[in-house]
Amino acid sequence: EQTFESVAEAVKWDEQGLVPAIVQDAVSKEVLMLAYMNRESLRLTLESGETWFWSRSRSELWHKGATSGHLQKVRSLRYDCDGDTLLVLVQQTGPACHTGKYSCFFNEAGTAASQADSGEAASAEGRFAMLDKLESLIAKRDAERPEGAYTTYLFEKGLDKILKKIGEEAGEVIIAAKNRSPEELRYEASDLIFHLMVLLREQGLSLDDITGELARRHLKPKSEYAISD
Ligand code: AMP
Ligand code: ZN
Ligand code: ZN
Ligand code: ZN
Repeated sequence: EQTFESVAEAVKWDEQGLVPAIVQDAVSKEVLMLAYMNRESLRLTLESGETWFWSRSRSELWHKGATSGHLQKVRSLRYDCDGDTLLVLVQQTGPACHTGKYSCFFNEAGTAASQADSGEAASAEGRFAMLDKLESLIAKRDAERPEGAYTTYLFEKGLDKILKKIGEEAGEVIIAAKNRSPEELRYEASDLIFHLMVLLREQGLSLDDITGELARRHLKPKSEYAISD
């Protein structure tokens, strides 16, 4: 933990007294936007725990979300090796971009590699790549709330609806297993996992929190966690 003064000292402010700040979703790890901070906005950000920038177009301090309500709660703020860039990890409310997009980086410039990849942005492959993609999609739906999407419907209905669905899907998983129907179980387990991931998003938890918890348990001697029903 460093004080405002020590951070401000370490930062390499440009000729206009600004430093670029990359803003990243602390939960989904999506890169959300790039904006500039001056000393005052850095101080306000560290003191308030919400992002403040310097708007170069409006030449004024800018409390992100002040008019849109799309505030960014700061989870951590870092500066890079040579102090010329800030990285702000935030809990994002709604879309980060003023266009209503979750992230400002929605314009894809095709490269030879990404085109060969059928336009998909490079992402971790492996057995659980789909969960990673689904987590990003749920975060995007939460931020953008596109009409007609089922995930939008869940977020709009709110916590009670999501919890009700989890209860229902858990019941359906139980029935499928009792029926010894692998087809049915595959289907209902998918429903349950999807709704559980929507709940995690609604509560600000990431799959990383879950895998982290599982990993910590794995490292513990078995006697340390009790078997409970
Ligand atoms: P907000 O800070 O979200 O209340 O938005 C206020 C104004 O700030 C908007 O009308 C835009 O001009 C600008 N703005 C908001 N978000 C962004 C962004 N991610 N990138 C650039 N400008 C933005
Ligand atoms: Zn640097
Ligand atoms: Zn934007
Ligand atoms: Zn179901």
